[in-house]
Amino acid sequence: MGQLLSAARERMARAAEKLELAAETVDRLDYPAETLAFSIPLRRDDGSLKQLKGWRCRYNSTLGPTKGGIRFHPSVSEDEVQTLAFLMTMKCALMGLPFGGGKGGVSVDAGDLSLMEKERVARGYVRAAARILSPDRDVPAPDVATGTQEMAWMVDEYGQIAGGIAPHAFTGKPVALGGIEGRTPATGRGGLIALEAVREQLGLEGKDSLTIALQGFGNAGSWFARAASEAGHTIVAVSDSSGMVSNDDGLDVEALVKAKKDGGSVTDYGDGDTSDDGIAIIEAECDVLVLAALGGVIADADDVKKLSCKAIVEIANRPVLPAADEPLREAGIDVVPDILANGGGVTISHAEWVQGRTGLDWDAEEVDDYLEEKMESAAGEVRDLMDEQGLDMRTAAYGVALKRLCAAISATGTADDFAG
Ligand code: NAD
Repeated sequence: MGQLLSAARERMARAAEKLELAAETVDRLDYPAETLAFSIPLRRDDGSLKQLKGWRCRYNSTLGPTKGGIRFHPSVSEDEVQTLAFLMTMKCALMGLPFGGGKGGVSVDAGDLSLMEKERVARGYVRAAARILSPDRDVPAPDVATGTQEMAWMVDEYGQIAGGIAPHAFTGKPVALGGIEGRTPATGRGGLIALEAVREQLGLEGKDSLTIALQGFGNAGSWFARAASEAGHTIVAVSDSSGMVSNDDGLDVEALVKAKKDGGSVTDYGDGDTSDDGIAIIEAECDVLVLAALGGVIADADDVKKLSCKAIVEIANRPVLPAADEPLREAGIDVVPDILANGGGVTISHAEWVQGRTGLDWDAEEVDDYLEEKMESAAGEVRDLMDEQGLDMRTAAYGVALKRLCAAISATGTADDFAG
């Protein structure tokens, strides 16, 4: 088993031990159900051929079809895909959705591809993974460096292979192709709902307006910034892969969106201090540090020493690694864990899947209501378990997920039932 997966499972084991869950049911979550590894031959625009590595993992499908994004990034590996599929298993269970956990990815630098090359990679991915994809088996969505455009190519390719239109085979599609209003903002908006719901647990209940530093200004991060700014919070620093911009008086989020769109980076914003180091944002003085870029940003005790925040919100998947858990606890910095904080994306993917399955469209208000209800309900369950068992927020979030998963796993019988 890979190191990333092994480290991620330690958090599950900690929660299982605290809640005294039956070992037999937790053991069933130890390994992925299946992982398909494949190559995607990419014909480049200059005529040359490049072989890309790709994976799709279905980690566990006890609660329903596996669900999870497809990532295009040079750091993608089998271990990372399996770890992210494990996290999706926990997240879908925590959010109370009828989905298991899956994930996929291609080891490629999307910034190095032309639009037509991206289309070839997206369609090549579906051809290679088609044997495990299906609307009732494994349902992908966007992730890092993929979005509505890639999902449009993918669902089209899937329909050609399956011999019919299957809008619920992919989520995060353009609205014109059976997507749902509000899917793109859902992860960021949901992150803010989660933050507000656990403010007391974070010790931030006294302040109307929080100061926020945000790493990553893509799909998830930019929508979190919009929602936070609309709610009256002050965004004091933002970074992307090109660098960071900060201003203690606050940054104008719509101007940041425009700077990113026009110049390619938030560093083109123009009014504030800039630096070319996107990682240095973790040192920014703020109430809440929101991590919405990649994994492994706060890796250990040395990283924790650099922090000047009171709390962390994990919008990205696994930005805080297990080796930093104890140092964070000692430093009194609480973390809203990824499986709760970014659960809004898969929640609205569920609404999109239901829409595709039934043929009945949801309107924007229904989508917003569903997001709010699901985020508040999951955060409420986490709060209750924290209080009942004296747990930190991440362990409680795993606990809520595990209770649901273990109840479903044990419904087909455990040693207690079969031992006579
Ligand atoms: P994205 O590709 O749209 O954005 C990623 C952002 O991170 C970009 O702004 C990029 O410039 C920035 N970035 C990359 N390296 C950086 C660095 N070293 N320093 C600072 N910024 C850096 O991706 P996304 O969809 O917004 O996803 C971001 C994270 O959120 C990922 O971990 C993803 O798995 C997670 N997530 C996303 C969704 C979703 O619906 N989009 C749902 C759940 C979880």
